[in-house]
Formats: sequence, structure tokens, C-alpha cells
Amino acid sequence: MSQVVRYELRDGIGVITVDNPPVNALGRDVRAGLVEGLRQGLADAGAQALVVTGAGRTFPAGADIREFGQPPQEPGLPSVIDEYEQSDKLIVAAIHGTALGGGLEVALGCDYRVAAPTAKVGLPEVKLGILPGAGGTQRLPRLIGAQAALDMIVSGNHVPAAKAKELGIIDEIIEGDLVEGAIAYAKKLVAAKAPRRPIRDMQVKLDNPNLFEEFEASIAKRQRGFLAPFHCIKAVKAATELPIEQGLKRERELFQELVTSPQSKAQRHVFFAEREVAKVPGLAKDVAKREIKTAAVIGAGTMGGGIAMNFANAGIPVYVLEVKQEALDKGLAVVRRNYENSAKRGRLTMEQVEQRMSLIRPTLSYDDFKDVDLVIEAVFENMDIKKQIFAKLDEVCKPGAILASNTSTLSIDEIASATKRPQDVIGMHFFSPANVMKLLENVRGEKTSDEVIATVMDLSKRIGKVGVLVGNCYGFVGNRMLHQRGAEAVALVNEGASPAQVDKVLTDFGFPMGQFAMSDLAGIDVGYRIREERRKAGEDVPASWLDKLAEQGRLGQKTSAGVYKYEAGSRTPIPDPEVDRLIEEFRKEQGITPRQVSDQEILERCLYVMVNEGAKILEEGIAKRSLEVDIVWIYGYGFPVYRGGPMFWADQVGLKTILDAVKGYQEKLGGEQWKPAALLERLVSEGKGFGSL
Ligand code: NAD
Repeated sequence: MSQVVRYELRDGIGVITVDNPPVNALGRDVRAGLVEGLRQGLADAGAQALVVTGAGRTFPAGADIREFGQPPQEPGLPSVIDEYEQSDKLIVAAIHGTALGGGLEVALGCDYRVAAPTAKVGLPEVKLGILPGAGGTQRLPRLIGAQAALDMIVSGNHVPAAKAKELGIIDEIIEGDLVEGAIAYAKKLVAAKAPRRPIRDMQVKLDNPNLFEEFEASIAKRQRGFLAPFHCIKAVKAATELPIEQGLKRERELFQELVTSPQSKAQRHVFFAEREVAKVPGLAKDVAKREIKTAAVIGAGTMGGGIAMNFANAGIPVYVLEVKQEALDKGLAVVRRNYENSAKRGRLTMEQVEQRMSLIRPTLSYDDFKDVDLVIEAVFENMDIKKQIFAKLDEVCKPGAILASNTSTLSIDEIASATKRPQDVIGMHFFSPANVMKLLENVRGEKTSDEVIATVMDLSKRIGKVGVLVGNCYGFVGNRMLHQRGAEAVALVNEGASPAQVDKVLTDFGFPMGQFAMSDLAGIDVGYRIREERRKAGEDVPASWLDKLAEQGRLGQKTSAGVYKYEAGSRTPIPDPEVDRLIEEFRKEQGITPRQVSDQEILERCLYVMVNEGAKILEEGIAKRSLEVDIVWIYGYGFPVYRGGPMFWADQVGLKTILDAVKGYQEKLGGEQWKPAALLERLVSEGKGFGSL
């Protein structure tokens, strides 16, 4: 008998147990073992019926993802499940933990399913850019109807046992010992002469003849650009139109299309990268972490309020400090409004709103900071103010408190120099809106201790963020690359493109919004102020038509006019002929004769410039691994998940293609941003990609 699946006879019932820690993944040995266990059970005259279950913490929780992209190894999961479905003896699946993907598909090959109250089931394949390829799309609709199956398969969401019972996936919830309960259940079925119940013999329930069209329309916006959700719909539709064998064949074809697609490769990359970023290279696993039981935020503006919400959501009490009562009241009112809006949408109860608000403690006094474990400063982006605040924190905070800054661009080392404890200072760069965006760029200063890094990386997860550790430089990883893309977008408009053309190229690529729509959201005054500061400091910052917008009070969405205009209360950007005139005027002033700019050139210049900068970031060690750059862009800036992030995407395009183009633009346009990164040149000469680093 196989090492990872065992068979035993218990009380007249044959029990097949998968024992392949940690999650009983359905690798080749498990599949072979499942077949062997089944055959043994069928041959065992003492077994009146069979139970299949998982040892340890879960029923099989899915395929063995390491086998993806490898040549298929027999027996394939579909044939294993067929054999279960066509067995002569009745089979009960006993589910605990998470029966996901292939795990649930195995359970669907059985006649009956029982589960522990805490179990969850689901078909999350869509999240990896594929679809359930072992009959899930054909059997689930036959079991629970097309609508409910679509909801589960297209969302990929887990369904808790109670809900699964309501839907008809689970026949009985077992309190107490699961396997004993399952054996008793099987015996009851045998005693009642219950028939075998292969799902393949069931008819799909389809109440609404327009279901598929309507469903597709309902996800069109949210899933724009993704292939897998739409293939999932096609597969479920096939279940309503074709006999099971043909339906299974159709499912296989659709699965094959997805599994070999660049999208699914990209989505699998993101899946692994998201887990990988939490492990910091060079940081010992056993480094001590500090306990964070209380926190504080300084500044209750756009960022401060949202940052505080993350802590309250995680049940961590958090002070919020401002200099003036008025600013404090205003900031807290915004937080309350956010929570109340969530309550209106049914995401929170009013009781939860009050409970979270009670964890957010407004204050005007640093005296309250004496005992806090962590402080995050989120005041104006001004070095002098930040240094004053850190000097104050150094005075009032207890030894060992972590002192963090949410700065977007300023040097963490310089901020740390205002304290006598630079080892406790770190950047925690949240993205706007801070209570929503999942990225947290944690910026390590030169002297930040390993203990502080480990604590903050851990805390990131606790407050629901994806923490990425980066080094200290202007704009860190995300904004440094964004800065290059922004400058290129402006240059393209100077040369003849319209803002709307540039933005359309970016949204067609898959970004949720273009560069200029994003500027309007962030506020045109933000960039303007930075440019003005740099000019005052004597830097040669070229004139920009964006300055003219700011000077006219066109500050973006908040004034209903920026690069675009906005109808009252709407966030939809509308191109504005007035802005076209202003740009035209600017070109004249600068002596520029506009030309036709192709979409291809826009795409290359906006994205290749980022890839080149990303390579420089890697070369300098600001990010240690290309997957960190990818995760920053996916969770901080809406880079399309199905393209895997800028560096993964670059590998798919081919680094030689990118390098040649970068050199071409260097010749044509000049500028530091088009100087090819040494790393890019090296990788091309070695025939390697960023993924090899
Ligand atoms: P904001 O102007 O909305 O808020 C700043 C708040 O700090 C104001 O409420 C102000 O009253 C308060 N403040 C100023 N000086 C203070 C002091 N000495 N003590 C206490 N409170 C003080 O600014 P914001 O957009 O929230 O930005 C805050 C920080 O976050 C900046 O460093 C910024 O670079 C960074 N950041 C901003 C964004 C963004 O998209 N807005 C994103 C990431 C990071």
C-alpha cells in the first residue's frame, strides 16, 4: 500500500485515509494511493461501504501545484475520480479542514458527503488563472444548480460547512469525531438500502435561461482582462448543454487553454510571490519579535485616519495625535464615515462600528505615547517637521518602542538621525486609501535592527497587509518607478499624445486607471508642490503644463477639474477641450511641433522605463528580489495580476526586446532614465531573465 494513503476496515466500513502532510495535496503518489485504496475496499468482502477522508488537519486541500507545467503523471485526477464515481460500493467523503480544488472534486466523485462543522469547501482554481479541471465544473452544477455553481467557481471563494449544507454540497454535519460519524452515517445508508448516487446521473438545474449572459455582464468590469473567469462560465454552460462525457471533455479543453496561457503562469507567480515576500532573505527565522499590543498614529489626515483603521480592524488599540482639536475632530469624523459606509453596505454591524471607533483614541498629547509599542508618523511630507517629531518621540517613548514613518519619499536614515535609537526606526509606507490598499512597503534604514524588521513584517500580515521589505532611496520601489512612468507620460503629451490616449493605453494594458486619472485622484497640487520645492532648492525642474493646471486651481477630482473634468459627484474622467488648448499653448511656448504618437510607443515608453528603473532598483539592492518589485506594483498600483508584475511581464516580453528598445529611446530621447541598467545588459548577455535572480 502507498505511503501516503492507507486502507483499513473499521466496523464493517472500509476507510481510505490520505496522509500526506501538510495539506494532503493530490500529488501523483496520493492519486495512485487513492486508486489502490479504492480497489482494496472494493475487494474487501467485509466492507459494506467506503469512507474517504484526510489525516491531520484537512481533507485534500488541492492539487500539488509543483506539478503544474510538468508532463502529466498517471493516474490523472479525472480518471481517479471517475473510478470513485463508478465504484460498486457506496462511498462517503468525510471532510474537515479545507476541501479545495481537486479535494472537493474528489468529494464530488463520492455518493455522499459529510463534514465537520468547521470545514470549508471551494474551487479556488480561478485565482490561479485556471479552472477546476477534474470534473468540478460539470459535477458541481449537477449537484447544486448552475447559478450556485457559477457563484462558487467564478469567485473561487470558500464556502463554510453550514452554507455548503444549505447548498446541497454537504449531506450532513458531523459533531464530534468525524470519521466515526462518517462510518455511522455510511452504516445508516447501508441499513436503509440507500442507492448509490453518482452525480453524473443528475440533471443540472437551470432556472434562468439568460443566466450565463447575465452572469458574464455582472463580472465584466471587475474581471476585465482575465481569461479564467470567462472560461469558467463557458465550462459551467457546457454542463447545462452536454452529456457528462462530452462536458468533461470540454472542461479539459478549456483547462488546457488556461494552464498553458501566459496569464495562468503570471497568476501562479503572483500566488507564490505573495507568500515569498514575507520571508526576508538574510533574516534569521528565529529572530525575536517584539510584541505589538498598542499603537499610535501621528496626523489624522488622508493617510493617518486610514492607517489607524487598520489597527482598530485588527483589534489593536491605537492613539491618533494631532496638534489641533479641530484637525483631530475632522480626521476622526472621516474614519467614522468610512466605517458607517461599510455598515450601510452590510460589511459591518453598527455594533462593530462602535467597537472599532472605541479602539481609536484621539489625543493632543504625547504623554499618551509613554507606553505604546509602535508609533507611525503620517504628517506633512516635510523633513524638518518629521525630524522634530522623531526627536520628540525619542524623548517620550519607552525603550524598545518601534518608531515608524509613512513618508513616501524622504530618507528614513535622515529621519532616524533625529533620534538616539536609529535601530528602532523604520519606514511603513502605506498606500492610499490606507484602509483599503493591501501593500505596505516597509523601508529598512541603514541601522534598522533585524528585530524591528521581523516585527513589522509580521505585523503587516496581522493588520491585513502584504508587507514588502525595501531599501531606502528616493521614492523607494513603487514611487521611484512611478515617477519615471509619470515623467514619460508627460513627455509623450508634450510631443503630441493626448492625456486620454496615454491613459487608454495603460487601462487597455490592464491598469485600473491611467497615469493622468491617477494624478487627478492624488491631487495635481501634490506634484506641483514637490516641483516648486525642488525649484526653490535650485534644481533645474523643467516647466510643465501640469503646473499651469495647478496654478488655475485645477487640482484634480477634489475640484472637479484637473487633467480631466468631472461631473459633480462623479469620478469618471471626461477629456476637457480647455486642457487640450492649454497643452497646445504650452507646446507653442516650448517651440514643440506636435506629432502623431503611436499607442505602441506609449506602451513601450511608459512600461519599459519602469522595467529599466526596476532593474536599477534590483542592482542597487533596494529590492532584493524581482518578485518584490512585482508585488509592490500589483498591490500598490493595480498592475494587472494576470501579467504578473512589471519584472515578470518583462521576462515574458523578452529582455533582449526591452533592452534594444531602451537603447533606441536612449539614442532618440537621451536622459538618465533611458540609460540601460547594467543588470538588464548583463541578463541579456547571459540569456537570462529577472526570474533567475
Ligand atoms: P495630509 O495633509 O492629508 O495629513 C497630514 C496631517 O498631519 C494633517 O491632518 C495635519 O494636521 C497633521 N499634522 C501636520 N503636522 C503635524 C504635527 N506636527 N503633529 C501632528 N499632526 C500634524 O497628508 P497625507 O496625505 O495624509 O500624508 C501624510 C504622510 O503620508 C506624508 O508623509 C505623505 O508623503 C505620506 N503618504 C501620502 C500618501 C497619499 O496618497 N496621500 C500615500 C502614501 C504616503
